[in-house]
Amino acid sequence: MEQEPHPGQAGGACTPCLRRAAGPRPFDEGPAQLEHVRIRGKDTTPEKRVRTLLHRLGYRFRLHVLVALSASPGERVRVRCRIPRSVSVDIILPKYKTAIFVHGCFWHRHRRCKNCTTPTHRRAWWLKKLEGNAVRDKLHQRALRKLGWRTIVVWE
Ligand SMILES: [Zn+2]
Repeated sequence: MEQEPHPGQAGGACTPCLRRAAGPRPFDEGPAQLEHVRIRGKDTTPEKRVRTLLHRLGYRFRLHVLVALSASPGERVRVRCRIPRSVSVDIILPKYKTAIFVHGCFWHRHRRCKNCTTPTHRRAWWLKKLEGNAVRDKLHQRALRKLGWRTIVVWE
């Protein structure tokens, strides 16, 4: 978790900003619970916090939803090589047709962030992999917006 928001990020909202908007958290998670969360993989701590906030703000949401990206057969043919047919969205607000991604700064290349590092060992391999992640994220978000979705990225 980062302590500072990232005002320079277009279309991004930081967890601390959302937290401030929602007021103080009801409880603090102990280390044991954090460990439990990590083991489960999908339920990362920042995502849980975003969920808690959304819940408190009164939003109805669904988790880990597979959203189809191909609007028509023609479009599917044109983008087949670059965009998969669907994308798994961390949190969706169906009523507002909004897709929220909770992204780790390392894996998703949070630009100008101190957590956006590149390992020195096998640097080229890591760069290719991590930049690939970022490119895929952009493609997913663009495809979603084309289908009328609003996309929000929350950085850890
Ligand atoms: Zn970051």
